[in-house]
Amino acid sequence: MPDTGILIGAHRVAAGDGRTIEVEDPATGKIIAHVPAGGAHEVDAAVTAARKAFESRAWSRMRPLDRARIIETIARKIEENAAELALLESYDNGKAVHHALAVDVPAAVDIFRYMAGWASKIAGQVNPISGDGRQYHSYSVREPIGVVGQIVPWNYPLAMAAWKIATALAAGCTIVLKPSEVTPLTALRLAELALEAGLPEGVLNIVTGYGHEAGQALVEHPGIDKIAFTGSTRVGKQIVQTAARDLKRVTLELGGKSPSLIFADADLDKAAIGAALAIFFNSGQVCLAASRLYVERSVYDQVLEGVAKVAQSFKLGHGRDPDTMLGPLVSRAQQQRVLDYIDQGRAAGAEIVTGGGTGPTEGYFVEPTIFANPDPDAAIVREEIFGPVLVATPFDDPEEVIKTANNTRYGLAANIWTRDLSRAHLTARKLQAGTVWINTHGMNDPSAPFGGVKESGWGREVGEEGVLLYTETKTVTALLDD
Ligand code: NAP
Ligand code: MG
Repeated sequence: MPDTGILIGAHRVAAGDGRTIEVEDPATGKIIAHVPAGGAHEVDAAVTAARKAFESRAWSRMRPLDRARIIETIARKIEENAAELALLESYDNGKAVHHALAVDVPAAVDIFRYMAGWASKIAGQVNPISGDGRQYHSYSVREPIGVVGQIVPWNYPLAMAAWKIATALAAGCTIVLKPSEVTPLTALRLAELALEAGLPEGVLNIVTGYGHEAGQALVEHPGIDKIAFTGSTRVGKQIVQTAARDLKRVTLELGGKSPSLIFADADLDKAAIGAALAIFFNSGQVCLAASRLYVERSVYDQVLEGVAKVAQSFKLGHGRDPDTMLGPLVSRAQQQRVLDYIDQGRAAGAEIVTGGGTGPTEGYFVEPTIFANPDPDAAIVREEIFGPVLVATPFDDPEEVIKTANNTRYGLAANIWTRDLSRAHLTARKLQAGTVWINTHGMNDPSAPFGGVKESGWGREVGEEGVLLYTETKTVTALLDD
């Protein structure tokens, strides 16, 4: 277990009022740790530490290649502690430890390694200004935005924290991060590793606490220059309203209701496996989960049968069981939310192809569930469930299905299965989504900007675009008096 105190500078503190939050293993319901329930007081102390670190320029003005070396060292420390981090993530979130080892931990390693490179590559430009005919030298530089508040959810706790922290560090910012109250442990451990790697104290501060307390206090704090948030669209909208008071910069990675589109000419076996993994991986608790499946009518029954077979083959279980494919949902509340949607789907007359129950009795499990032919206006088709629930619908007209796929307030991701290259790329152009995958799903990479259109968010994370969103542009123009 990492030290579970709030991290301010290099010090661990309890909440001033002594309150704590129980951290639970969702496979058993057992309490595995307590973390402080930080609030406005702790957030203020953390912001003060981050501000001091920013103004000392110990980080932002460190030689770029030295910053790169420290960020790279964090990657190496994560790699060296992979087994421990995966186990911690499994206990905290419920996911299979071998999935955490194969997906979550490598994602964290990769982002630090990739962002280490950016620390020495953030350049500006020379502006070829016309001016008034006299000679000018004009250039623009990218400066770190300052002190950033980062708020992350519980579905990929380590990887989401790593995406945010590594990017902000590359840009030269200092950080106050609030993990989800449900899964605070790996962010706390990551911060320990960052300090061991030589990150100067105060550059990364972690405040555990509830969203409506610590999270809200961070968004309200006048000492924060930017909020980077990953979570629900509902909370994202609240953050925008609060941040409007002092026009903090805001980037948002929010919810989704992403479509899978399977055309009759696709490799149908691969498409069925792909569509099943696209919704059921991580028990559906994935922002980019493809929770709506549209299949060309001539192959609809065949594909649906294939997806259902894959769904039934997933073994539900404890995250430490090596045979487990799908762990429990993260909490009782999340399990109940998903079961309520399944009840609504049944009540709305959609047909259950497979699943619908809770599976193993102990722990917060939900079986991979497929609804066929739902009413297009039903809640299960329109709203993000954030659980292992897929809705499947046949289509006849390839143009019409693009309209149907786009008929949602979300626009995070989409996938297309076809062997027709022109159709694949033309459909990709027409889909309203931040990411479109062709004959695959979920391939994220530190080099590929990620984010959503419409109510799925503002801005992009990772890649060059992600780094630049942690900077402000300053233009400097000099008159050359000759
Ligand atoms: P959430 O309720 O919005 O919470 C996300 C984070 O915000 C948590 O750390 C939460 O803290 C905090 N929070 C809650 N209320 C807050 C407030 N008023 N002010 C500031 N912070 C607040 O979302 P969730 O249920 O944890 O996560 C699931 C959602 O995240 C889904 O909608 C999913 O699509 C989205 N998500 C998006 C992406 C993406 O990249 N687009 C990735 C993963 C997840 P507490 O947990 O402590 O309350
Ligand atoms: Mg937990």
